[in-house]
Amino acid sequence: MDVVTIGETMVLFTPHNGQLRYASQYVRSFGGAESNVSIGLSRLGHQAGWISAIGDDELGKGMLSFIRGEGVDVSQVKIDPTAPTGIFFKEIRNSSDIRIQYYRKGSAASQLSKEDLDADYIAKAKYLHISGITPALSESCCDMIFEAIKMAKEHGLKIVFDPNLRKKLWSEEQARDVLLKIAAEADIVLPGVAEGEFLFGESDPETLGNRFLNHGASVVILKVGAEGAYYFTNEESVLVPGFKVEQVIDPVGAGDGFAAGFMSGVLDGLSLYEAVQRGNAVGAIVTTVTGDVEGLPEKQEIERFINKPADDVS
Ligand code: ATP
Repeated sequence: MDVVTIGETMVLFTPHNGQLRYASQYVRSFGGAESNVSIGLSRLGHQAGWISAIGDDELGKGMLSFIRGEGVDVSQVKIDPTAPTGIFFKEIRNSSDIRIQYYRKGSAASQLSKEDLDADYIAKAKYLHISGITPALSESCCDMIFEAIKMAKEHGLKIVFDPNLRKKLWSEEQARDVLLKIAAEADIVLPGVAEGEFLFGESDPETLGNRFLNHGASVVILKVGAEGAYYFTNEESVLVPGFKVEQVIDPVGAGDGFAAGFMSGVLDGLSLYEAVQRGNAVGAIVTTVTGDVEGLPEKQEIERFINKPADDVS
């Protein structure tokens, strides 16, 4: 196993553009940061395991089949007969105004606890990928994340942390406190500038890079949207430019695609620059397709995309 991740995936209903109140037809798909990352890794040829829970319901089972079908190991997904699979709606007013409505309170995944973790399973992986969403789901999920980090450290896994701030799920004070604690445990952190600003009250990339490094990470990747991403280590700070896309259709999921692309590069032994470049490429491709995972590329596609001439956006 290359990467293990832990988190909730929900059934996603996306109507046509416009206000949700008028929608009567939806495209049904699935979305969750951690399974998005797992699927992204699997498409790029890596072995990813996703720890989660679903309800004993049709939508949850459809979701499990889908994620299993993408080649992700779902052996650690629990079917909980006492709670439903969460759902959410993506209201696309326009490409820069996307509103998310969650129906996830009390969901099966939010009931997960540290008793659901299997240390032997985690021990098989090289990386533990953590998002800041799972600790926000419930107290038991928050405890589970810190337990997973402990297990990972005991077994020599590296920890990759994407803060994925979701202000709807918890108070700002709680979010800041927990996200900073996880960042302190992580080897690699993948924040966006807004998340860095939320955590450290700074927006200058260089300053943020240093703040995260001083906080404990050995590699900081700061995502700056279409401009690409910086990487910071104690030796270097470099901006890796993003890729131009013809049209952004749905930017949600770019961060997860980036995480998958970046980790894929690291697993393939690329330089940090090339790994960030692969992250940028996957993030860019994801923005051109509706849905969180539908645009995730396979290895050949990503190589073609990275190597195409700069003025060719076909
Ligand atoms: P998310 O909304 O999925 O949580 P994020 O805020 O974590 O995303 P972004 O900075 O929006 O992360 O996007 C991640 C990466 O995807 C960027 O660093 C960049 O490489 C790529 N990307 C995002 N938007 C664009 C764009 N409009 N054009 C090209 N590349 C993009």
